[in-house]
Amino acid sequence: MTDLNNHLRGLPSIDELLRSQGGEDLCSLYGNDIVTNHLRSALEEYRKARLQKTNNEVLFVIEEFMSGVRQSLETFFTTDLRSVFNLTGTVLHTNLGRSPLPREAIEEIARVSSGASNIEYDLGSGKRGDRDKLVERWVCHLTGAEAATVVNNNAAAVLLVLNTLARRKEVPVSRGELVEIGGSFRIPDVMSRAGSKLVEVGTTNRTHLDDFARVLSRKTGLVMKVHTSNYVVEGFTSEVPDEQLSELCRAHDTPFVNDLGSGTLLDLSSYGLPKEETVAESLARGADLVTFSGDKLLGGPQCGIIAGKADLIARIKKNALKRALRVDKLTMAALGAVLKLYVDPVRVIQKVPTLKLLTRSRADILAVARRISGPLQTVLGSDYSVEVAEMKSQIGSGAMPIDLLPSAGLRIEPKKKNSRMLRKIISSFRQLPKPVVGRVNDDALVFDLRCLELETEFLQQLSLLKIARE
Ligand SMILES: *Cc1c(COP(=O)(O)O)cnc(C)c1O
Repeated sequence: MTDLNNHLRGLPSIDELLRSQGGEDLCSLYGNDIVTNHLRSALEEYRKARLQKTNNEVLFVIEEFMSGVRQSLETFFTTDLRSVFNLTGTVLHTNLGRSPLPREAIEEIARVSSGASNIEYDLGSGKRGDRDKLVERWVCHLTGAEAATVVNNNAAAVLLVLNTLARRKEVPVSRGELVEIGGSFRIPDVMSRAGSKLVEVGTTNRTHLDDFARVLSRKTGLVMKVHTSNYVVEGFTSEVPDEQLSELCRAHDTPFVNDLGSGTLLDLSSYGLPKEETVAESLARGADLVTFSGDKLLGGPQCGIIAGKADLIARIKKNALKRALRVDKLTMAALGAVLKLYVDPVRVIQKVPTLKLLTRSRADILAVARRISGPLQTVLGSDYSVEVAEMKSQIGSGAMPIDLLPSAGLRIEPKKKNSRMLRKIISSFRQLPKPVVGRVNDDALVFDLRCLELETEFLQQLSLLKIARE
């Protein structure tokens, strides 16, 4: 026991460790404070460990100790927000960050973020400006709206609209549209948070104009239509056309709001994609306000856009909640850059990555699969088979839920059915410097290559793959 106490007393001090070669190296890399902090906890741990194992050999090797500290500092400073390869086949994957931004938007973010800007400063009058004005012109040009405002995401947009126009009021919604999106956004919950009273109208599969007409009253704040983003009701169904619902609302002097979710600005059906109601179409069919996401089909930064009648937008902007939900200058910079690209509907398809990926041809994707299947097979060796396969991609993020895009990719399978080897290879791909995320299908790891553009980067890191052998 005395030996141990002597040993612990004889350990180098923090100061000595800081002044050692290893200590000085770490300080020049990370700065004194954090190195001191890690040295202190490492010493503390060492002491505790020794006290628990009293009869062990007494040994303190400074090189070993410092190498442990170096490792813990490296771990502390690794960035957890990593770039990954999204080979899941879901283009707008919420867990993988949805839309990649176009180069133009990234350049705008860099430009605006490196110094001061007129985010809320009117250069004409020298007075306080309105940040929405920075993008409103383009939203209005592209959608036919009279006015627009931007908030943190579409959930915030819906919340703000409800709270402004329907607090302590009723909001009729068709029973077929009481959606839950990604678990955390449920229409009934958002309604109650906004202080609105949900009035369920019609049935799950069929809702008629009469159903709405019966519940509209002076207590109604607005009528809401919600895009059934992640499911479809099929079979014996009926919903009220926008034009009729908006006419009914107008007769009752009640705003008609359409939560479009994805809110596409382009009719993508001319590019082989399924037909979705565009923002412009919804407004033309009589919606007084529409709400939609910036990072779904639009292909921009995370934000929510509210567009429509100028008097309603003005009321929304006066709500104190708007201040809490507003977006920063970086989002504004990116959104403005993306909207500007839409002014040329021909070139936008190539310039906005989300649109480019969604309209990528199967032949193009198949060519990628053929090019990389050989090198991948070589790396994986004889325990695994790599096969080129046709498959279907999804748009994702609740856009066009059942429509699947013809795509191609690779199926990676252990040659002998072996779930442990399958799990191993899936996690090996996730542990690469730039993790590769695929999906699992019928005992195989599947890579849908629609979203693979950086082929060389993908192939270059394969040599680091830790492969499970039998
Ligand atoms: C995605 C979606 C939302 C939520 O939008 P976020 O931008 O993810 O906040 C709300 N309503 C509908 C219909 C949606 O599809």
